Amino acid sequence: EQALRLEGITKAYNPGKPNEVQVLRGVDLTLAPGEVVALVAPSGAGKSTLLHIAGLLDTPDAGTVQIGGADMTGQSDRRRTLTRRNDVGFVYQFHHLLPEFTALENIVLPQLANGTARRAAEERARGLLDKVGIAVRADHRPAALSGGEQQRVAFCRALANAPRLLLADEPTGNLDPATSDQVFAALMELVRDTGLAALIATHNLDLAARMDRQLRLETGRLSTT
Ligand code: ADP
Ligand code: ADP
Repeated sequence: EQALRLEGITKAYNPGKPNEVQVLRGVDLTLAPGEVVALVAPSGAGKSTLLHIAGLLDTPDAGTVQIGGADMTGQSDRRRTLTRRNDVGFVYQFHHLLPEFTALENIVLPQLANGTARRAAEERARGLLDKVGIAVRADHRPAALSGGEQQRVAFCRALANAPRLLLADEPTGNLDPATSDQVFAALMELVRDTGLAALIATHNLDLAARMDRQLRLETGRLSTT
């Protein structure tokens, strides 16, 4: 089954009002397991809206969202939350790590919330930190890490519960070009290693070119670049 399938997604803000903004006008998208797709969009094109709908943080006006073959249309908030927690990982431009917890704990906590035993959660967290090359930073708090290291921890946290789908919004957008390149490489390695599908929004066309496919979001629709 497909990791993600969007069909006929439409979305407007303030519908029917003078300040209505029609953001998505029929978006179709299928991500196979293991596929890494770049989402390229000018600012304001609706990239965040699309990622939020795909990740069940927002609902479309029309169209269907399927995650792992399960149709999320009309499902209860509880069911959508469970699917989001189990099957979807998010990464943003800013790391959003909990400042009072260590890198390791930031990756352990979502697993505990999902019912994983502490020992297994810690083992998984160490394995993930090792894969992105910062095992030695496990006991540091976010403030003691560089920007690139913070993002690497955020990637590990996104994958903590072994989702089938990663949604990333400018994951290296806050980093200088050299760091961005290295951190992106670490993300790709992690994604390839775990075999999950990823939709990665970026303005960086060099990074986009390193993914399996590139899609452009413009005037509310996706097109192949
Ligand atoms: P992007 O992430 O591509 O910059 P967004 O999805 O954040 O785009 O926003 C797309 C459009 O929808 C923009 O014109 C934005 O101003 C508008 N928009 C986003 N969120 C809201 C909201 N909550 N209410 C009204 N308009 C919004
Ligand atoms: P942006 O820069 O696009 O505003 P941020 O990087 O500040 O986004 O990340 C904050 C985003 O997290 C918000 O857009 C918000 O919609 C989203 N969000 C809200 N709840 C959750 C959640 N439970 N899990 C992940 N992301 C969430």
